Amino acid sequence: MQFSEKIRTLRQSHKLSQAEFGERVNVSNRAVSKWESGAAMPSTETLLTIAEEFEIPLDYFLRTEPAVTEKKPKEPGMESLRELYKIGKGPSSSHTMGPEKAARLFMQEYQNATRFKAVLMGSLAKTGRGHRTDFIIEETFLPKPCEIVFDMKTATPYHPNTMQLFAYQGDTELGMWEVYSVGGGSIEIKGQEVYIPKKVYPLNSFAEIADYCRKHDMRLWQYVELYEGVEIWDYLSQIWNAMLNAIQEGLSNEGVLFGGLNVHRKAKHLLSQRHIDENAETKENRLVCAYAFAVSEQNAASGTIVTAPTCGACGILPAVLKYVKDKRGFTEIEILHGIATAGLIGNLIKTNASISGAECGCQAEVGSACAMAAAAIGEIYEMSINQIEYAAEIAIEHHLGLTCDPIRGLVQIPCIERNAVAAMRAINAINLANFLTDTRKISFDVVVQTMYETGKDLSHRYRETSEGGLAKLYE
Ligand code: SF4
Repeated sequence: MQFSEKIRTLRQSHKLSQAEFGERVNVSNRAVSKWESGAAMPSTETLLTIAEEFEIPLDYFLRTEPAVTEKKPKEPGMESLRELYKIGKGPSSSHTMGPEKAARLFMQEYQNATRFKAVLMGSLAKTGRGHRTDFIIEETFLPKPCEIVFDMKTATPYHPNTMQLFAYQGDTELGMWEVYSVGGGSIEIKGQEVYIPKKVYPLNSFAEIADYCRKHDMRLWQYVELYEGVEIWDYLSQIWNAMLNAIQEGLSNEGVLFGGLNVHRKAKHLLSQRHIDENAETKENRLVCAYAFAVSEQNAASGTIVTAPTCGACGILPAVLKYVKDKRGFTEIEILHGIATAGLIGNLIKTNASISGAECGCQAEVGSACAMAAAAIGEIYEMSINQIEYAAEIAIEHHLGLTCDPIRGLVQIPCIERNAVAAMRAINAINLANFLTDTRKISFDVVVQTMYETGKDLSHRYRETSEGGLAKLYE
C-alpha cells in the first residue's frame, strides 16, 4: 500500500472527514487532501504526531511495501492439499478455524498460564462477533479464562486478519504471539517459521504444471499423486465423505439460523420442490442449488464442513461433485481425481494470490471455489488440460471484483445463496470450455494475478469488514 492509501485508509477507518482528521493532527484539510492524492507528504514531525494520535507504529508509514503488480509468491513451490482441504466447524475458515488453531497452539506453548487474552484486529475485530471468533477462542482456552478485546483502531498492515494472544500467570505476562489468519484455516505466527507448512510441490504456476504433465503424459490428478504420494487418496476420501455428510445433514435440517437475521434454512425445501413438467435444466438447477444450500447452511450453523477452499465458499465443490456423481454414476476414485485437480487449482490461487475474503473480497473465496469446481468436473469427464484450464479461468474471470459484504458479519447473506449461484456457474464454465476448446485468450495464471490485484484495489469496506455494500445498506 502506498503512503497516500495508508493515510486514507486510516482516516476512513476512524470515520473522520479530511477536516476532522486534520484537526486531530494540527494541519488543514487541504494538507490531508494532498497527502491522500499523493501530491505531498507530511513532515517527519507531523508523521510522529499522526502515529501517536492514532497509536500506530511509525514503521507502518515508513515501510516500503511491494507494489501490487508484483507477484505474490515469496519462494517457489506449493504446500500440500492437506493444507487446503480441512475438515472443521464453520462458519469461517479465517475467523473461526484459523483463530481456533492459533489458540490451541498457544495454549500448548504456555501450559503454565492461568489466563489468556486475545486482541482481535482488522477484519477479525469488525466481523468477529458475527463469525463467532470470540466464542471459538474462549471455548478453545477452556477451562482457563480468556479475555477478548475487539480492537477496531489499530492498523493491520501485514494482513487484515491479525490477532495478538497473551498468556498470563497471575499478573505476570508469560508470552505473546502475533498471529495472522491467512485464509482457509491456515495461520502464520510472526517470527516463527516452525509453524509454516512445508512445500511439497516444486512448481507454482499452472503453465509450468501443465507443461510438465504434457511432457510426461500425465493428468493433473497424477501430478498430485506424484508429489503427495498414494496416501493422498485416503485423505481425499475422508474429505469427500465429510462433504457428503455435510450435504446429507444440511438437507435434513430445517429452522432458523443463528445470528438474529431470521434466515431460514432452505436446502430441504429446494430439494423437495417438483414442477409437474420439470425439465432436465430445471432439475439440474434445483438439485445443484439444494446441495450448495445444504452445505452452506451447515457452515452458517457452525456444523462440520470442508474448506473448499474456505468455509464461506464450502458449498460449491461438494454440490457439483454430488450432482455429477449421481447423474452419471462416477466411481469414488473418479470423484477423488476431481477433488485432487480442484485442489491444485485452489492451491495455485492460494499461493499466487489469496483465498481470503478479508484480503481480496469474495472473488477470492467464491470465485476460487467456482474455479475449483469447474476444474473438478473437467477432470472427472477426462477433458484435456487445456479445457480444464479454460474452465477454471472462465469461472474465476467472471467473479472478478466480487465484494465481501456479509450482513452483520454473519456468513449467511449473501454467502449461502452465492454458493448456489457459483455452483451453477461452474457447470456453465465447463460447458463453455467444452464448446470453445482452444479459443482461450487469457491464461489461468493471468486471471489469478488479476484477481489478486483487483482485490488489493478493493476498498477495505468490501473486504470482510461488513462496513459497505449489503451489510451497510441493509441496516
Ligand atoms: S461474502 Fe463471500 S467472502 Fe464474504 S463471508 Fe460471504 S462467502 Fe465469504
